Amino acid sequence: MSTRTCRGRCDRQIVPSRHTPAPGQARHLSRDLCSGCYDYARRHGTLDDHRRIHRPLAETIEDWEFLASQGVDRDEAARQLGIAPVTLRQAIQRWNRRHDLTHTSELEGAAA
Ligand SMILES: [Zn+2]
Repeated sequence: MSTRTCRGRCDRQIVPSRHTPAPGQARHLSRDLCSGCYDYARRHGTLDDHRRIHRPLAETIEDWEFLASQGVDRDEAARQLGIAPVTLRQAIQRWNRRHDLTHTSELEGAAA
């Protein structure tokens, strides 16, 4: 499992939200921030500084597939990923195009 460092103030390792953080780690909430740093940024109006993370498309799709498998719909998944619903939809479409999925994909179907 890969971990990243929180981009907020805590310097902790953040783990994907579906994982249980070990001592000294924190769960990723959104925008490469743990929930504490996310709250801090939101309260101090600096959340936008963290908006443009370079989120690999494959990672977005991986997270979406996981959430969809848990019965989370696409809008809610987008909220949990910290991206706009339209952004997630475009990411899925981009992924499908890239992989030349000509049929109605499981990705799209999962949210129905
Ligand atoms: Zn943090």
